[in-house]
Amino acid sequence: MSFSKVLIANRGEIAVRIIRACREVGLHCVTVYSTADRSALHAKIADESVCIGPAVTKDSYLNMRALIAACENTGADAIHPGFGFLSESAEFAELCREHGITFIGPSPESISMLGDKARAKETMKAAGVPVIPGSEGVITSLEDAKKIAAEIGYPVLVKASAGGGGRGIRRVDSEDQLENQLALAKDEALKFFGNDEVYLEKLIVGPHHVEIQILADSFGNTVALGERDCSMQRRNQKVLEESPSPLMTDDLRRRMQEAAVKAAKASGYCNAGTIEFLVDHERNFYFMEMNTRIQVEHPVTEFVTGIDLVQMQIKIAQDEKLPFAQDDIKITGHSIECRINAENPELDFRPSPGTIEALYTPGGPGVRIDSAVYQGYTIPPYYDSMIAKLIVHAPTRREAIMKMRLALSEFIVEGIDTNIDFQLRLLKNKNFEEGDYDNAFLMSYLEQLKKS
Ligand code: ADP
Ligand code: ADP
Ligand code: MG
Repeated sequence: MSFSKVLIANRGEIAVRIIRACREVGLHCVTVYSTADRSALHAKIADESVCIGPAVTKDSYLNMRALIAACENTGADAIHPGFGFLSESAEFAELCREHGITFIGPSPESISMLGDKARAKETMKAAGVPVIPGSEGVITSLEDAKKIAAEIGYPVLVKASAGGGGRGIRRVDSEDQLENQLALAKDEALKFFGNDEVYLEKLIVGPHHVEIQILADSFGNTVALGERDCSMQRRNQKVLEESPSPLMTDDLRRRMQEAAVKAAKASGYCNAGTIEFLVDHERNFYFMEMNTRIQVEHPVTEFVTGIDLVQMQIKIAQDEKLPFAQDDIKITGHSIECRINAENPELDFRPSPGTIEALYTPGGPGVRIDSAVYQGYTIPPYYDSMIAKLIVHAPTRREAIMKMRLALSEFIVEGIDTNIDFQLRLLKNKNFEEGDYDNAFLMSYLEQLKKS
């Protein structure tokens, strides 16, 4: 569908990123802000900006009625949801459709099918995509859970079917813990996601998190854009991402891309999406989940493919055909992203909101910053602590590491605590340097730091 004005239903660096993409393709944009975000960058730099409610997200950034009303009042005929917030809400995508507003993302049907992680796995399995061994669908009784866990073998994970953001995942090492962990997981899932359904999955020991970016247009063309390795995680949350993955081979990439395209087709997918896989030490890969939105770490893919993913999202939503086929995609060089958070790594990564007294950002060839902060800006305490992303691109992994080290050491943020020095230490770690790390690496690295 054609549209001319896009409302951005988000905040922070991703809202700024989307403003840029809209302008580059010649579209007007409207941003929305909560009363706590009056001085936020996304509110200041848009063509128009509308206050949609108080600081608490349920009444502002998650307030569907207020967002639709903001579209009607400003004449916006499309919504870009960014990531987090309503980006994976089938209900919101449906509401947009009912109001004749283009939701820049997949259909409500795809979102609802894939957002139910247990059901998504069933669909993928039926389509011939390898999945992590586990329960068929959600767990209905303790007896059921015991039987399945015994079959797949401990340790297992209890995972919230509606989960996301690394939350609602619990490890169970033996049968006597199962009842307790199951109950805790259900409580947690209900509290965070308003849905207490959980499923069981075998815990894959020491895997890599490798995800494939795809783009699918409304004409049935689906193209895979290489992978991102997101194994550097703290409490199942990503800290640093890179592309290509250090463990990738041409053959593995071809097979994973084929599986990703199959997964997207199995769910009738249209727009940008990411298929997350775990890869074990023998380079076997298993489907984990599909994220039906733009992802935080999308810039590393943009660097190695030269394709603007947010612009592509907009063009796909306007029913344009993908301007390339699978054979046209070339992966060039190496890219790394560091998430820059307002937090104190010394105090167990406690968030550190406050006023940015001084700011100096790195630059130069192959250095990109996606940020939402400026000197004098006060970071409110209500939202995610990620304030910027630093991304570099160089011909080789070695050169990308050198560039990232330099960029991190140039980056100055005064007035609040950040994880910049922590990221720099990680960039100098020997294991990282050699590409010798998996999903378990960062947690054990942090344990060692505590001891020393
Ligand atoms: P990515 O896979 O893009 O790296 P993350 O897991 O870091 O995504 O999530 C991106 C943002 O969305 C984070 O702010 C995270 O807290 C939030 N988020 C993701 N899924 C959910 C969810 N189901 N419920 C609430 N917040 C979520
Ligand atoms: P979310 O929806 O919160 O992103 P995921 O299902 O993508 O949840 O899992 C988040 C992270 O948890 C993964 O990147 C991985 O590090 C870890 N994880 C999830 N499932 C497994 C598993 N079966 N075995 C080992 N690690 C897992
Ligand atoms: Mg995930």
